[in-house]
Amino acid sequence: MTADRRRKRVPEKRKLALYWAASCGGCEIAVLGINERILEVAESFDIVFWPCVMDAKVRDVERMPDGSIDLCLFNGAIRTSEQEYMARLLRSKSKVLVAFGSCAHEGCIPGLANVTNREEIFRTSYLEAPSVENPAGTVPQPETDVPEGVLRLPEFYDTVKTLGQTVPVDYVLPGCPPEADRIWDALSAAIRSELPEPGGVLGASTTVCDECPRTRTEKKSARFLRPYEVIPDPETCLLEQGLVCCGIATRAGCGAKCPKVNSPCIGCYGPNDGVEDYGARLMGALASVIDAKTEEEARRIVEEGIPDPIGTFYRFSLAGSLLRGTAGKVREA
Ligand code: SF4
Ligand code: SF4
Repeated sequence: MTADRRRKRVPEKRKLALYWAASCGGCEIAVLGINERILEVAESFDIVFWPCVMDAKVRDVERMPDGSIDLCLFNGAIRTSEQEYMARLLRSKSKVLVAFGSCAHEGCIPGLANVTNREEIFRTSYLEAPSVENPAGTVPQPETDVPEGVLRLPEFYDTVKTLGQTVPVDYVLPGCPPEADRIWDALSAAIRSELPEPGGVLGASTTVCDECPRTRTEKKSARFLRPYEVIPDPETCLLEQGLVCCGIATRAGCGAKCPKVNSPCIGCYGPNDGVEDYGARLMGALASVIDAKTEEEARRIVEEGIPDPIGTFYRFSLAGSLLRGTAGKVREA
């Protein structure tokens, strides 16, 4: 405790870190969605590492004693060796590590790249994209010799991993991004030292359907529609109107934001408790509402109405799914 704090009898603040790996940055902005409540966070925690908003160096974290960070909110998936290093470093320095948001939790949109591999990604991005002019065929290398020495870049892995596939995590805070009120629920529980037993999800255990005000009548669908094909009735379940609404398989927490504005849930809160594979759960749920008498008929309804099965069933969860290790093979299957 510092001399100043001892004099004023102010308890030592706990330490908070936030980090951003393979993600879009939306989770960083979502933290600011708690608005003035960030001041309560600052009253309870010293923010010791948050590269997005303050200057901090990796060596500063390396010098911290193990376990000296009380709470680390880690957003983003693991795509490069640098991100893996930071995940391992922050794991060892943190008492509590939270997989914050869908990328850290399930891989999210970066994880969709697991349908292909590094070689194809580099070929598209650096050689074949229409806007690329690269006559020398240069692609990033982990090491490049220059007169001054060797330049190093983080290694770009073949496969995107979740944080939990890389290091043990204590909690998951789902969402793309997590809702500000859910972030505050977690932070205020941490402030009060009332986080639940480690190993679970900081969030609801019901589904988006339970938060959705639309009427469901167990009507089946003989055809799936794309959102641009219909202006849905605002009162009736979107799934029963033929739209692929993932709320049926998705964890609650957002307040059914999308169905409330006439847009189907796309599943950003991930699977509910006890579901090992979100896509499989969603396929099972959709199968129960298909109005088909034969397997052939069901296949036709799915093929005509769901032209992008991976992007529909695994939009947020491919890296964390049972298919995760199949880079380059999912698409061929
Ligand atoms: S399937 Fe979608 S629209 Fe229907 S009740 Fe669930 S969340 Fe609402
Ligand atoms: S309705 Fe679905 S897609 Fe929309 S915010 Fe909620 S969980 Fe995410």
